[in-house]
Amino acid sequence: MNKLKVESLARKNIQKLKPYQAKEISCKIKLDANESPFAVKISDFISEINIPLNRYPDPEAIVLRKALSKKIKLSYENIMLGNGSDELIYYLILTFGGPVLYPVPTFAMYGIIAQSVGVEAIECKLDKDFDIDDEKFLKLVKLKKPRLIFLSSPNNPTGNTFSTDKILKIIEFAQKNSSIVVIDEAYQPFSSEKGFLPFLKDYENLLILRTLSKIGFAGLRLGYLIGKKEFLHEINKVRLPYNIDSITQYVATEALNKFYPQIKKFISEIIKERQRVYKRLLKIKKLKVYPSEANFILLKLKNSKEVYKKLLKAGILVRDLSSMIDNALRVTIGTKEENEEFLKALETILEEKG
Ligand SMILES: *Cc1c(COP(=O)(O)O)cnc(C)c1O
Repeated sequence: MNKLKVESLARKNIQKLKPYQAKEISCKIKLDANESPFAVKISDFISEINIPLNRYPDPEAIVLRKALSKKIKLSYENIMLGNGSDELIYYLILTFGGPVLYPVPTFAMYGIIAQSVGVEAIECKLDKDFDIDDEKFLKLVKLKKPRLIFLSSPNNPTGNTFSTDKILKIIEFAQKNSSIVVIDEAYQPFSSEKGFLPFLKDYENLLILRTLSKIGFAGLRLGYLIGKKEFLHEINKVRLPYNIDSITQYVATEALNKFYPQIKKFISEIIKERQRVYKRLLKIKKLKVYPSEANFILLKLKNSKEVYKKLLKAGILVRDLSSMIDNALRVTIGTKEENEEFLKALETILEEKG
């Protein structure tokens, strides 16, 4: 009997694709996925859930969109929800197609989704300070006429925000070339800069992505896209009708309405810890530490793979970035106790090496 070669049945661009590595590695301290270290529970702000599970959720998620709209002070009609912002990136590329342009190193999903949808992905290397190389970038906009441009600012995994002037220049130039600019503000809550919501009214081709994942609700899967109604109208055509389940709609609404001050407190605590960890890392001579506007810090050191393994042996999981940036690790800011354990383990590992 002939064996069925399943792989060869997949579309060509899927055959070449590697699945996003999201393996669970068991460890005591998890600092690899930019989650919040504060374990928020539903019972912290909801005493009882009475949702009829026999009914479909509200396909428009009006109540939740209105709760979000109050926080960002824009109409709920300018907000579209996704099962994580990942889903919205997928919808954006499915709706508008390619080419898709983004600076690298950055969040891997822009490229993975472009490839799975089957559109061209164009990468533009960041400069040595991890800011956008605007000259090169604008040339690519002109030459390749990308339909979509993704800018993660603060950028994952480098932690910095891109210069506002450069981003504005790109948006303006893109507008002339009919390119859409999506600013991915997954880490905006941790940044000292004000982000791009205030610029939405000035530019036709600007969209902004946000998520609850990095501020304590990664398990809920809720991202949101903010922009002109005309854009959301087009994207809404490819959105699966019930992409946000009733539990998420209810829990996220309650969290925004009743738990927001606590969410903000957690965010300030993470920012405070980030500054403390950054200063401590600066004192370690055998590594280079990069300033961060996000909830993680990028490090460069010799033999990063070995250090990664030794940290894991000590029960601490960080992200090995070596496939993206030479000898680099990314460490998420945890609770004070977790960060202390990480710092001590790292100091010990690097001292050992003499
Ligand atoms: C984590 C992350 C996301 C994904 O967020 P979800 O809402 O969990 O899908 C999007 N963009 C960037 C830059 C991220 O780091």
